[in-house]
Amino acid sequence: MPSRTARLKKVFKLREFPIAVGITIIVIGVLTALVASQVNTRLLDLARQAAREDVGKNADAIAGALQRELTKVDVIARAIRYSIEQSPNMTQQEYQDLVGPLIGTTPSILLVGRSRGYVVEQVFPIDGNEKAIGLDYRLVPTQFMSVREALRTGQASLEGPIDLVQGGKAFIQRTPYYPNNREDMSRIASGIISVVVDRDRLISQINQDLGIEAHTVAIRSLTPDLVPAKMMYGPKGVFDESPILRQVPTESSIWQIGLVPSSGWPAHVRAATYVWVLSLLGCSAFGAMFLALWSMYRSKRIAEGQLRSAINSIDDGFALYDQFDRLVFANEKYLSYYELSRDAIFPGNSFENILREGLRNGQYKDAIGREEAWLKERLDMHFNPREPIEQRLGDGRWLKVAETRSPDGDTVGFRVDITELKQARERAEAANRAKNNFLNIISHELRTPLTSVIGYARFLENLDVLPGYKALDRAVRSGADKSECAEALAALRSDVSGMSGRISTASDHLLGLINDVLDRAKLEAETVELNVEQIDLKDTVKTVTSSLGIKATEKRISLTSDIAPLLITADAKRLRQVLINVVGNAIKFTETGGVHLSSDSDDTTVRITVRDTGCGIPADQLDQIFDQFVQVDTSVTRRNSGTGLGLAISRELIELHGGKISVESEEGRGSTFTLTLPIRARSMEMAA
Ligand code: ADP
Repeated sequence: MPSRTARLKKVFKLREFPIAVGITIIVIGVLTALVASQVNTRLLDLARQAAREDVGKNADAIAGALQRELTKVDVIARAIRYSIEQSPNMTQQEYQDLVGPLIGTTPSILLVGRSRGYVVEQVFPIDGNEKAIGLDYRLVPTQFMSVREALRTGQASLEGPIDLVQGGKAFIQRTPYYPNNREDMSRIASGIISVVVDRDRLISQINQDLGIEAHTVAIRSLTPDLVPAKMMYGPKGVFDESPILRQVPTESSIWQIGLVPSSGWPAHVRAATYVWVLSLLGCSAFGAMFLALWSMYRSKRIAEGQLRSAINSIDDGFALYDQFDRLVFANEKYLSYYELSRDAIFPGNSFENILREGLRNGQYKDAIGREEAWLKERLDMHFNPREPIEQRLGDGRWLKVAETRSPDGDTVGFRVDITELKQARERAEAANRAKNNFLNIISHELRTPLTSVIGYARFLENLDVLPGYKALDRAVRSGADKSECAEALAALRSDVSGMSGRISTASDHLLGLINDVLDRAKLEAETVELNVEQIDLKDTVKTVTSSLGIKATEKRISLTSDIAPLLITADAKRLRQVLINVVGNAIKFTETGGVHLSSDSDDTTVRITVRDTGCGIPADQLDQIFDQFVQVDTSVTRRNSGTGLGLAISRELIELHGGKISVESEEGRGSTFTLTLPIRARSMEMAA
């Protein structure tokens, strides 16, 4: 069953793509909206700008034309004024002859009237305007103020718009004239020349002349501070529609022309839909590209992840270095092997840096003391990979290092932990060495007693060569007396028993040796069975010390014991065998001082300590002496006999009892063997 998290991960991965598609669609939507609205706004701005430029040109033209028309009206008024000032008493006919040609080319001028003081005296054209003659401005409130002002100030002014009797609106240019008498000039004007201009005709004439149709024109007057004062023409609303503004100075004020397209300013872009479609297409293409790239990246990431987890799950160390020898990737196992240089093992760091960090921290055992030389050799091997090498680490582990160079120049490195293999090989080699030693020793140990057995047996076979036998023979043949014969016989007996004694000692030795070998074989075959019973430890130790006491006495060393009486369950024969071996060794390897046995116990275990003042055991051999065939001194000329089996057998027997055996020793000062045994042996417990 896949774990919950694994299932969740799978589900997440499955949903990843639809989620990405969903997000992309949303992003495309938002992006399309942004792009299209931006483009449309920009296009609208451009359209507005173009329209304003267009309207601006027309506004310039209209302002220019209006300025020209008003100037024309002013010029006409001045011309009439001049003529009237020259001949103030001209007749209506003369007046007609004067004005007629002047306004003939200006159809927007409806009529030109001349007043003397406030009373209109002459008009042109007269037809239809007869009623105007004799009109007194003082009786027309709408015109009185401006006429009075013109008369008072002597300033020409442009007035209007005022309603015409015949309909429509008009501007009136009021130009005062003076008597043709220089002295009077500075005082008061004689009358007013009023040029009435049909406003609508004026504007439509201008539009027509300029060919402008599609724009709405409005005109208003401004105060000297440029504040809007009065509408002169057109709808007022034009000025609220961001019109193009132009100013035209007139005689009495400033006129402001406002111009907007008749259909208003562009409010939307005509191609807006295309913009939307194009934006959508563009953003979709972008989204599709993004999705394609994303899914490529995702596949790459998944593949990389798979590769990484595959490499991480390899049971060996793996590292990849690029062509510049920088670390690209190292798996967990690789990191775990190089604990001491771990801080330097990160992607991008160079192989040499990693080695140097290791050298600083004692990562490579074989490099200690010769770091630079080692580094040089190692780098050489790294750059020219050949056969795999074996590398000893600071923590005692062994790695097999195999490196290969890829065609791209990358270096692929494998690290295999061969510590166990190495140890097994070393153990096998040690065992082999020990067996060879054993063979050497055993042949020596067997040959020595056998030689004496055979030698003495030969003597016994040929008694007649013995001096005792020869003496007895001589005594019997010579008829010597009884006592002489008895003496010779006793001498012969002594010779024979001496030889038999040596034969029996050598045989015992041989038997012991063979027993040891057989015991070992049995233990290996696991066929040794303990015969567990309740015994007194003190008694058992005593039998051992008394049988070995002779040897100690022979060597002039002491053998003492301080064992408290204690009932334990154990195989008495086997425990004795172990004690004989350990105590025997202690005596064997002690030349001065002595061997002391002691014991202490708690509720469950008893410890028997055998301490000697002998030669001791080198520290590096302490662990091995319990292995079979291991002896500290393996020379054939060594002083003490033995096979190297005793301690191996002892350990196994003690372990069979559920106990253990250990040693502490100082070379040259002596050794202490400690046997720890359960008070109730294991097999007894099981039986109970
Ligand atoms: P051996 O038959 O050689 O005594 P053992 O297995 O009994 O074989 O002992 C193995 C080796 O351990 C001995 O050869 C000796 O080198 C060392 N050894 C054992 N006991 C002692 C001791 N008390 N003092 C010094 N060395 C000892």
